Amino acid sequence: MSITSEIKELHAELPEGVRLVAVSKFHPVEAVAEAYAAGQRLFGESRVQELLQKIPLCPSDIQWHFIGHLQTNKVRQLIGKTALIESVDSERLLELIDRESERAGVVTRVLMQVHVAREETKFGFWPEELLDYFKARRFESLKATHICGVMGMASNTDDVERVRADFRAIAGVYHAVRDDGALGLRGFDTLSMGMSGDWPIAVQEGSSLVRVGTRIFGPRQY
Ligand SMILES: *Cc1c(COP(=O)(O)O)cnc(C)c1O
Repeated sequence: MSITSEIKELHAELPEGVRLVAVSKFHPVEAVAEAYAAGQRLFGESRVQELLQKIPLCPSDIQWHFIGHLQTNKVRQLIGKTALIESVDSERLLELIDRESERAGVVTRVLMQVHVAREETKFGFWPEELLDYFKARRFESLKATHICGVMGMASNTDDVERVRADFRAIAGVYHAVRDDGALGLRGFDTLSMGMSGDWPIAVQEGSSLVRVGTRIFGPRQY
């Protein structure tokens, strides 16, 4: 199937209120252009250099989500370029994003990445760690960063029940924070879960933002 028909089919399959990020990492700007022509406006990239190269070559009304591990030495270059940084995986990174955003005179929207999957290499806050961060109200010191929700990945396995349990754990953290009225958070409304292989389960478990690459663009050329 073509990029165009995959985009159209996904938009038809996704329930109302669930947004699609087309993950274009490792694919050329021609692929982005085809998805754009099919109506897609939200794209995801996981490497700062690749994103910065693509932005000037792509339509200016594209909203870019950064979804990869963000190294602290790349933060300054990224600030002001994204609609959302989905992958804040440490307080140190968050503080740096905040400092650089204030310096640049912008407000950066972010998601906090939760780690539940079994793989050793995955980044993110442990659920308890993230709950502690909010309970201790440490977000109140942020000056130029808006925390909009939570992002997470399920274990990379064919075990559907394992995947569902992972999404449930991520959604549990999201709801615990969002539904704690005492925190007084505004605009904390985004739960980003689900990729090509598991997005239908993620949507069943409450995802409001799915990040799909391979199904749209085919295998990546590394
Ligand atoms: C690459 C990537 C995706 C897309 O994965 P596919 O399996 O190609 O759909 C989604 N989320 C994150 C964080 C990624 O790095």
